[in-house]
Amino acid sequence: MNDDYYELLGVSRDASTEEIKKAYRKLARTLHPDVNPDPEAAEKFKKVSQAYETLSHADKRRQYDMGGGPGSGGFPGGFGGGTAGFDFNDIFDMFAGAAGGRGRGQGPVPRQRRGGDVLRRVKIDLRDVVFGTEQQVTFRTAVLCERCSGSCAEPGTSPTRCTACNGSGHVQRVAQSLLGQMVTMAPCPTCEGHGDVIESPCTACSGHGRTASERTVTVRIPSGVENGTRIQLRGEGETGEAGGPSGDLFVELSVTDHDTFERDGDDLVTTVAVPMTTAALGATIPLETFDGPQEIDVRPGSQPGEEITLKGLGVTPLRRERRGDIRVVLDVDVPTSLSDEERDLLQQLAALRGDETTRRKGHGPFAKLRERLREL
Ligand SMILES: [Zn+2]
Ligand SMILES: [Zn+2]
Repeated sequence: MNDDYYELLGVSRDASTEEIKKAYRKLARTLHPDVNPDPEAAEKFKKVSQAYETLSHADKRRQYDMGGGPGSGGFPGGFGGGTAGFDFNDIFDMFAGAAGGRGRGQGPVPRQRRGGDVLRRVKIDLRDVVFGTEQQVTFRTAVLCERCSGSCAEPGTSPTRCTACNGSGHVQRVAQSLLGQMVTMAPCPTCEGHGDVIESPCTACSGHGRTASERTVTVRIPSGVENGTRIQLRGEGETGEAGGPSGDLFVELSVTDHDTFERDGDDLVTTVAVPMTTAALGATIPLETFDGPQEIDVRPGSQPGEEITLKGLGVTPLRRERRGDIRVVLDVDVPTSLSDEERDLLQQLAALRGDETTRRKGHGPFAKLRERLREL
């Protein structure tokens, strides 16, 4: 069956080349296998492409109009087979806009590539958590090549346009496919798709635009951070290739244990052991804090486990002004060994208080007296 090419494209017999192109473009947008998976559409696309191929070339069109030529009867040799000169780039050009860009429409691949991210662990102590701090982080990474400033070429030289692909970064590849012979675009092997060639690569960076070096970055660490908090410093990581954007630096914080305080949310907690006499009699005892020496008031009769609060001497939370507190937990030291005198005094005290637990035999006059009283 012979299809009329003008009918297939839906144009009149005296349509201009521009009209034919426009009609084909419109049809291709609905029929191209990239946008329409229907096999019938593929078949139709094959036909309209054949029609377009013939009618878009003046000499072939003339031949067709006169009733002859390779394109006039069916599809000898398959789509595009044996018919040289069909410029598939026209199709790719059309689809560059319609189907998200492909083939020649992409242009050369830029040499610039973003640098990698860098992760460094930094130790801070609890004081840094309470008040925030600044630290210098030094690490080895890729930095901008000073010799070529990231251009990759020796100073005084510059990249030259690739002659293999004429600067496009792509070359045509011909392959057989379902639709017959297909021309696809592949990255140019000569310039690796960049479109230009660096004939004299920079000697300092071997043409990468960056070198390895030590780098020191000042990191501001806010108060209230946690163990394991990561701080992101945009653009402070690896320098990109060929002057591309830098990656980020991530600083992971590790908070070292403190001798006195443990963190509990925004509070700092410490345990202070006082002698049992202090717990009973009360006292003022010193405590070294991050805000300098403070005094804790131990009230007479304090119990083990009791908490004393020092307001506002804790951690300044992230993004908040009000500081947490210091909580002092009292522990009471009970003597583990007593001299004779101490024992006597304690027993006197126990007797005075009538403490049950002091009931025992054979020691001291009060104990004996007590025993006797008990027997009455
Ligand atoms: Zn260089
Ligand atoms: Zn090339």
